Amino acid sequence: MESDSDLTMDDLGHPNGSPAHSGSHGNLASAADYDYLIKFLALGDSAVGKTCFLHQYIDKEYKPSFASTVGVDFREKRLVHRVPGADGVVGRSHRIHLQLWDTAGQERFRSLTTAFFRDAMGFILLFDLTNEQSFLNIRNWLTQLQTHAYCENPDIILCGNKADLEDQRKVSEERAREIAEKHGLPYFETSAATGQNVAKVVECLLDMVMLRMEQCVDKTQRPFAQNGKRLHNGEMDEYDGSSKCAC
Ligand code: GDP
Ligand code: MG
Repeated sequence: MESDSDLTMDDLGHPNGSPAHSGSHGNLASAADYDYLIKFLALGDSAVGKTCFLHQYIDKEYKPSFASTVGVDFREKRLVHRVPGADGVVGRSHRIHLQLWDTAGQERFRSLTTAFFRDAMGFILLFDLTNEQSFLNIRNWLTQLQTHAYCENPDIILCGNKADLEDQRKVSEERAREIAEKHGLPYFETSAATGQNVAKVVECLLDMVMLRMEQCVDKTQRPFAQNGKRLHNGEMDEYDGSSKCAC
């Protein structure tokens, strides 16, 4: 076990997944074999390391030379997630089908990629610790999220990536934590190259999103459904509610 979330990985490795496979159950899963379809989206300026980060999470390796992402792409993974309960008690476990959406940071793809914000339940917002501008642009990305995400306060984790390049660092941990705190976001310093905190970020976001969904379900006493929505007598309700980081 490598984390609080007790990730039992069954990597479905689906490189170059097409958005056409998204939506309900895709061609890899049937309704019966998972409890939740969870969609996360990585965003941030070009070259901050979004593609390498997701590749490191899925394949546990660093591939330094990716071509720029064109539009959107996604990777998938199966895992069992245990929501940490109060007082360290292990909560219920859920079978998760996780889709990790990768977006292009370039302006010319903006309208395409923001269209995908609406569908995601959690966001991994990255900047490059060695690139001041990518840090300053965090504010713009947060505005984009407020406009295009499913609600005004979606679950977001802020990542200062390329932490392995300590000698080239332009943004101090203190400055980054300050902005994270100001916006109420958990902050992690990550490295897609060494893997530092990469899995932790995804697990923390899962905790936040699952907690939000549990609260929704508890509130309504409705049975679970896929795609982050609750099913009741055949009808679908949007998932919504408030969340708190459990990590
Ligand atoms: P994206 O445009 O945000 O998807 O960025 P990429 O994942 O394509 O990465 C852009 C460049 O940064 C590539 O040359 C990567 O090898 C490099 N890179 C990404 N993450 C890291 C990291 O954590 N450490 C270091 N040293 N380089 C990284
Ligand atoms: Mg990319």
